[in-house]
Amino acid sequence: MRCPWCAVYEDKVIETRVSKDGTEIRRRRECEGCARRYTTYERIEESMPLVIKSDGRREPFDRTKIERGLQASIAKRPVSRQKITALVLEVEREVGELGLSEIHSREIGERVLPRLKAVDHVAYVRFASIYRDFRDLEGFEKELDALRSEDTGRHALPDLAKDAEGEAVTSSDRDRPRN
Ligand SMILES: [Zn+2]
Repeated sequence: MRCPWCAVYEDKVIETRVSKDGTEIRRRRECEGCARRYTTYERIEESMPLVIKSDGRREPFDRTKIERGLQASIAKRPVSRQKITALVLEVEREVGELGLSEIHSREIGERVLPRLKAVDHVAYVRFASIYRDFRDLEGFEKELDALRSEDTGRHALPDLAKDAEGEAVTSSDRDRPRN
């Protein structure tokens, strides 16, 4: 640390205290240049970035919001809620570890989608339609076409497209800013 009095960099710690809740360390230091004392604080940095919405507004990262969207996407699908919760926790950890102060909601969606695709294709298409606003539209269409050609007929695709459409309307209504 640089002494606030004489700008010398050498100091010795004469006292270290951890705050009651364990989130902060306070150190009393003595400058080795001028022998004056000062205090430094050490804190764990907020690890979750703010989420930048498509309209530019920022909001705190909200795991439950992603989870709600995902739970809706698995309606009537053979996927357990636990699996979805685990998926969201995994994404949350990954996003937290990026150490960013802000992240686009689209980028969070991009981290969710491949994981969901591995879990269930129908849920994946439904969720992708929820995130449609945040994604390159052309890219999404390609994604759908790829799924259509990939599909072996086990999922009825006309119904699937209709479902995805329905989900999209409800979700974008829900996400609209309330004035
Ligand atoms: Zn000093």
